[in-house]
Amino acid sequence: MKNKKLLIAILGLGLATTLTNCQNTTASQGNDGDTENKTANEHLTMAVLYQQQAAEYRALCYQAFNIAQMRVEESTKMLGGMKPKAVIMDIDETVLDNSPYEAKCILDSVSYPTAWDKWMYKADAKPVPGALAFVKFVEEMGMQVYYVSNRKDKYRKETLQNLKDMKFPFASDDHLLLKTDQSSKRERWDQVLQKNMVILMIGDNLNDFSEVFEKKTVDGRFEVTDSLKSEFGKRFIVLPNAMYGEWENAFYEYDFSKTPAEKKSLRHQHLIGF
Ligand SMILES: [Mg+2]
Repeated sequence: MKNKKLLIAILGLGLATTLTNCQNTTASQGNDGDTENKTANEHLTMAVLYQQQAAEYRALCYQAFNIAQMRVEESTKMLGGMKPKAVIMDIDETVLDNSPYEAKCILDSVSYPTAWDKWMYKADAKPVPGALAFVKFVEEMGMQVYYVSNRKDKYRKETLQNLKDMKFPFASDDHLLLKTDQSSKRERWDQVLQKNMVILMIGDNLNDFSEVFEKKTVDGRFEVTDSLKSEFGKRFIVLPNAMYGEWENAFYEYDFSKTPAEKKSLRHQHLIGF
């Protein structure tokens, strides 16, 4: 009951803040072929390899969805009230794996947003390990899944097609809430909450769980995370993503006009040595 009250409090804060599109995080923009841009993405190599080639990454995803499944099973014992039970899921690096786009950027020495359209219109992202089985399980349990993503709404058709091709249930307009004018997911969560009892939120970015994480400094993000530590593995299920995220944007103070050299300098400034 205490956790339920906390979740309601978190979901009910309604702070009017905005944040950047999740994909902005790789944003060393432009591709004019100079030396700086050619090396701008090299720091991503290990992160992309970890997602594509480390069995540990796969194990972490399975671990997250195993816990999520246990929570769904437990929720069947909860009194549901009149509203159907539902799970809110992010898409990128939660349901669909965009690491081929990141890999292509490294190989071609380009950065987001170059070729992002091409990747979206290809509509061929593969499922994150464990995600498909989990969504099917939720469907079998008679509950709903809503995909709340900061993909732009102009990619709606391709996103639905990609989800359908990968056999994801709930690949329909009424279960897909993409970004229109606001990056904050607050209003879209509220839309889901009006008609559903949300039992679980799943994402790779802390902004997938509550707006209290938005636009915080690195230390601020740690503080909020510590204050909500009992929620992780309960109401909030986190997927790994070392390629991009608000964790990186915080280094840059959410300023995407910074040059690749400035970003590199800020990354180094945040290293803790001995
Ligand atoms: Mg994501």
